[in-house]
Amino acid sequence: MPHRLLVPSLLFTAALSLPGLAACSQGAGAPGRTSQAAETTGESPTAGNGADGGDDAKSGTASAKEAEADLKGKVIAIDPGHNGGNAVHPEKINRQVPDGRGGTKACNTTGTSTNSDYPEADFTWAVAKKLEQSLTDAGAEVVLSRKDNTGVGPCVDERGTFADDADVLVSIHANGSESSSVKGFHIIVADPGEDEKTEKASGDLAKSVGSSMGEEFTPNKAYGKDAISRRPDLAGLNNASVPAVIVECGEMRNPSEAKLMESKSGQRKYADALFDGVVDWF
Ligand SMILES: [Zn+2]
Repeated sequence: MPHRLLVPSLLFTAALSLPGLAACSQGAGAPGRTSQAAETTGESPTAGNGADGGDDAKSGTASAKEAEADLKGKVIAIDPGHNGGNAVHPEKINRQVPDGRGGTKACNTTGTSTNSDYPEADFTWAVAKKLEQSLTDAGAEVVLSRKDNTGVGPCVDERGTFADDADVLVSIHANGSESSSVKGFHIIVADPGEDEKTEKASGDLAKSVGSSMGEEFTPNKAYGKDAISRRPDLAGLNNASVPAVIVECGEMRNPSEAKLMESKSGQRKYADALFDGVVDWF
């Protein structure tokens, strides 16, 4: 089971001690998910009026920031967590790969899903593509860890190393606490980082992204007042050589956050908040 994240008050210490406990990066498949859902989002930034009834327009805040943002010369790595084909290829994603700290861990996991079986991989892909567009519009070069939402992997080690030539890495995930009352985003950085300088830069990035996310979404303060968690066990972060964060955008089992995550308008808000956080960090 992915995302077996306990009650918030127990979370921090438990996360470091219980096997299988995860920031949606470990564990077996999402329950009941036997096939990938189709990619349902239109990726054109001008596409509007999704089936959710919301529109796909960028929020006012991000539009303003995007208009003034100049990311020319910046290379930004985006890692949309998991992959749409992971669930049907356990033999591929369960193989062991370097965890970046001298050990090994499973190549990848399926991730979690909402109670209506909307998969985390679909959510992260939709947000990543919207974020990619905004960053590209602002002049940045964007590299993605995966090319579609129908394949398998890549493994968690490559989800760090693919960003070696980038300036920064943002890994997009969503959490799946069993309790539907758990709500809010949190951000994870490697502890320790690649080196002192990178570790500090990752911490600054986490604060910046947390601040922009906090303007639109609820921070889960079970992870601290800034909703930032420092962990030694996440291979993507451990294998990153550049400033890197994992953003757990929210809780997929929480009804109000699930609704946001399943809608194009909600996905746009997540992408806009991530965009603002990256721009502010630069
Ligand atoms: Zn995840």
